[in-house]
Amino acid sequence: MRQWLEQFNRMYAVWMQGRYGKDELNQFLLLVSLVPIVISLFFPKVLYVALIPAGFALYRWYSKDFAKRRKERDTYIRMFEDVAQWLKVQHRKWEDRKTHRYFTCEQCKAVFRVPKGKGNIEVTCPKCGDKKIRKS
Ligand SMILES: [Zn+2]
Repeated sequence: MRQWLEQFNRMYAVWMQGRYGKDELNQFLLLVSLVPIVISLFFPKVLYVALIPAGFALYRWYSKDFAKRRKERDTYIRMFEDVAQWLKVQHRKWEDRKTHRYFTCEQCKAVFRVPKGKGNIEVTCPKCGDKKIRKS
């Protein structure tokens, strides 16, 4: 049995040579495919939906086009970082909701905060220096 496993591993390694394999996007796709699998415990037909992300993950896994796969991965990483940054800002806004007020600069879209309860004050964007009168 052990010898058979070793031989299988060798054959798999040879077959995987020149193939893309595992990356963050494939892991995410496989994780996403678990959602319809769990739902299919109650609604069996939903199981087919899991084939879409799982099939794409398998296609990427065994693909030999490294350039395209890396480009997809980079796009995914960038989107993931944007979402993580947005969630971080939302979390901070929620934690500071009693002490600070948040503004988004109309010029450069930078998000900044000022102390709450100071009346009408001139707020200056720390990024571009745009000034506006706002109620804090
Ligand atoms: Zn600005």
